[in-house]
Amino acid sequence: MILAKSCTSENVMGSSLPMYTLQEWSEQFPWAVAGITYKGAVSDIFDLRKEDINCDDRMQQIQKETGFNSLVRIPQVHGTNLLVHDSELSGYIVLTEAADGHATCRPGVLLSITVADCVPVYLLDPQSRAVMLLHAGWRGVAGKIVTKGIELLLERWRSQLEDIVVHLGPAICGDCYEVGPEVFRSLGLTKPTEPTPVDLRGILTRQARDLGIKKENISVSGDCTLCGERDFFSHRNGDVGRQVAVIGVRP
Ligand SMILES: [Zn+2]
Repeated sequence: MILAKSCTSENVMGSSLPMYTLQEWSEQFPWAVAGITYKGAVSDIFDLRKEDINCDDRMQQIQKETGFNSLVRIPQVHGTNLLVHDSELSGYIVLTEAADGHATCRPGVLLSITVADCVPVYLLDPQSRAVMLLHAGWRGVAGKIVTKGIELLLERWRSQLEDIVVHLGPAICGDCYEVGPEVFRSLGLTKPTEPTPVDLRGILTRQARDLGIKKENISVSGDCTLCGERDFFSHRNGDVGRQVAVIGVRP
């Protein structure tokens, strides 16, 4: 059964920044930017390690080249805490309290998360012009972070379910992501007897559809961070680098 419309791939951004942008959204919502970095020509430039002192330099490159006033980083903990940034932010790079998702409708504020196999979930409401970005690994999927995110849009911005668009970005695919019975149990699925692959983006699509998001408003990237041909970091592949996913309302 097809739950979402056919796969959408990100296109390369026309700058020195190694970033794919979501072509379809760029055309439909030119007031917003949604994208994700990849390894890039200089092999280590976006190898974004947690403890790397150059991390802020790379984040600032993203902030500068996208033309945003501030880039917001959230220390991700595989939870479901969501933040809303609705006041003016000071500084080019803003680090918040621990969270796995955030949202804003403030022009010039670029939301970011880092991923390497986990799913970057982009949400946008064209009416209120609110945008949201979620980090969804299996714990986030089990905690229904996408359901919480959509409910936050409905509550905070009076968004209508039929308006909200969702994109599930490059992540490990349903053939590659082999997990143990405990993960199946947490996800509410029948427990297999041996390690079995699970499709996180398939489950996220189901969760969004169950809440009432329209099928034609959900798109799924065709890229797998592990078996795909594109130049992405994969935790399962032993990479310590991370992609930076971003979304924001242009200043
Ligand atoms: Zn794969």
